[in-house]
Amino acid sequence: MINIKKEQIHFAFNPAETPVAYADNGDIVKFCCQDCYCEQILSDGFNFNKMNMQRNNPATGPLYVRGAEPGDVLRVEIKAIDLAAEGSMCARTGAGIYEIDGCHCRRFSIENDLIVFDNEIRIPIRPMIGVIGTAPKKDIISTQTPGEHGGNLDINDLGVDAVLYLPVNVPGALLSMGDIHAVQGDGETVICALEMSGEVTVKVNVLKNRQDIPTPFIITDSHYITTAADPSLDNCSVIAAQKMHRFLQQHSNLTDAQSGLLLSLAGNLRISQIVNPAKGCIMEFPIGLAKEKFEK
Ligand code: CA
Ligand code: CA
Repeated sequence: MINIKKEQIHFAFNPAETPVAYADNGDIVKFCCQDCYCEQILSDGFNFNKMNMQRNNPATGPLYVRGAEPGDVLRVEIKAIDLAAEGSMCARTGAGIYEIDGCHCRRFSIENDLIVFDNEIRIPIRPMIGVIGTAPKKDIISTQTPGEHGGNLDINDLGVDAVLYLPVNVPGALLSMGDIHAVQGDGETVICALEMSGEVTVKVNVLKNRQDIPTPFIITDSHYITTAADPSLDNCSVIAAQKMHRFLQQHSNLTDAQSGLLLSLAGNLRISQIVNPAKGCIMEFPIGLAKEKFEK
């Protein structure tokens, strides 16, 4: 198995980034990832002012996938997410959407797949990838922001067994990922989740002539999910929903009106995150209601 080390990181999705590993179509690749703070928070009460903010949101990679050419789609199947034993969070003034006084960095451990929170609260883990994307065509995009290339998506459905479809904008696609979360609520409202170091194992495949896939697109065991990123939450929500509307029409014999009616009945329009430079919305539709199944 191809193994990419956790020191092999970068902080922007960049078409000129030098690949650190090479894969063939169908290969299994393990990405070892530092947490989003580059493992700088090692204890409760860490002084956030001492944080080197240049080392924020590292992405491990990039991986060059042989045969991937601009216009193709990269299929990334998430096979496993192995977490460290403890993770970090930080609630602080000016970050996220709450009024919080001061800066409170915390470490929480995981025992028997439960996060050991305060007041004897236990939260089941649902490991997911926050940052995952391919290189943009020309732009250099910080790992802080999501976009058409993927990036800082923070969609909590990106867990084990999910399949993510990303655009190929440059030869080799240049896939990178990081920002693992033990669990994250919709919105990621305090600007972080339980931020974990860990290892992500994925299978990569190059798909030719699949312009019908509205990348970045997700298929889970239960849902099709379209995604959108935009500084305006209003725009973002409409874009995500309209992408699903088009997808349903392309992959069924439903009319525009029927697709709209169906989505209004059974589609869920959700805020994935509300804290990144571009906000994220997703539209999910139950696979069980789709007449023509879209091959995962
Ligand atoms: Ca993130
Ligand atoms: Ca994060």
